[in-house]
Amino acid sequence: MKLIEADGKQLLENNGLSVPSGRFLLRAEDPLPVARGDIAIKAQLLAGGRGKAGLVRLASESEASFVVADVRSAMIAGGHAPLVMIENRVDIDREYFLAWRVDAVRRAPVLMFSPEGGVEVEAHPERVREVAFDPLSSPRLAQIAKFLQTSGLEGRALAAVARFALDLHAVMVREDAILVEINPLIVTPNGAAVALDAKVILDENASRRHLDWRLLSSARLQADTIDPIERDAAAQGITFVRLDGEVALLSGGAGLGMMLVDLLADAGHPAANFVDVPGGSGADIFGTLAKLVFRRAAEADVKAILMFLTLSATSLKQPVESVLAVIDADAPPRPLIVGIVAGGSAEREMTLAEAQAAFRARGHECVTDLEAAVSATVRAIAGR
Ligand code: GDP
Ligand code: MN
Repeated sequence: MKLIEADGKQLLENNGLSVPSGRFLLRAEDPLPVARGDIAIKAQLLAGGRGKAGLVRLASESEASFVVADVRSAMIAGGHAPLVMIENRVDIDREYFLAWRVDAVRRAPVLMFSPEGGVEVEAHPERVREVAFDPLSSPRLAQIAKFLQTSGLEGRALAAVARFALDLHAVMVREDAILVEINPLIVTPNGAAVALDAKVILDENASRRHLDWRLLSSARLQADTIDPIERDAAAQGITFVRLDGEVALLSGGAGLGMMLVDLLADAGHPAANFVDVPGGSGADIFGTLAKLVFRRAAEADVKAILMFLTLSATSLKQPVESVLAVIDADAPPRPLIVGIVAGGSAEREMTLAEAQAAFRARGHECVTDLEAAVSATVRAIAGR
């Protein structure tokens, strides 16, 4: 789960790391708290690049309400909920880029640093250095300091930044994060290291250990932005992933689904979704699946529906009848191609020929292999 900056900073603060003081999160209608001098006003969204988009603003006490209103309207114009954070402004001496991530390939924590922090870091990706640490022991301050020094950090900031990096590693481990990125990590004119921004991604596999995660504003924001079909599918234990293509896909099994996604892409007509049902869901899950897929199929960018089932142990009868019930209640919104591979005991209650006859009687083309399924779909899209 990706955290908005305000939640990320709270996490850092809870773990004793230094962040700007006076932080408030303002929802759409919240008034400004009594102002206290110069503040930073920052849009809270799950995307980066706010600095360049004018969504990070500095204001004096007298300008504050005007600037907050300005940031809110820019967010609304961009299709975002107008969630704004304010905090006390900090004087900056230097800006650095500092991050820890869990590297999935190396299976180790990786420390990243660039002496060029702030909005410019993306313009100079070559200046970001990184080093992997032992996943089984805590890094030592001296190791970190050495890495920072060879990465271009000099002078009196070294000790403060190295200490911050060591503490940040502990936060990542304790909080089950897979990324803690501080850009910029600033050093103030007094030599203190302060996280001016925070990008944190929590490891959702650890969510059972952190019952408080669901209370975060980030969790609510994520629930609001999730696709309605994906959300309804998840509530029924089905994996539904919206894709950008034009063929709505109704298939059982992740391997088959991925193969169909690839074959359709190769044929120049990519899938509009991927679906997977958990094993042992019961045969009537296919009716639920059909309803979700037909919802996607009714959207303007979809041109055809491809259903493909391979059954060997599960009886053909129930999946076929539950899909037919959905079709009979409400005709599929696009041409439907039906691929079924069934053998052995799958035919004990209904034969493949009977299943095909039922679909053909309703005007849907039937095929029995993947290649034919893809070419029939391509023809249906061409209107032939
Ligand atoms: P991002 O562009 O979305 O990553 O937003 P950041 O939070 O990183 O802010 C972008 C830039 O705004 C920073 O690199 C700083 O230069 C500047 N900035 C943000 N907060 C403050 C602040 O409190 N004081 C000062 N002087 N500059 C700030
Ligand atoms: Mn930033």
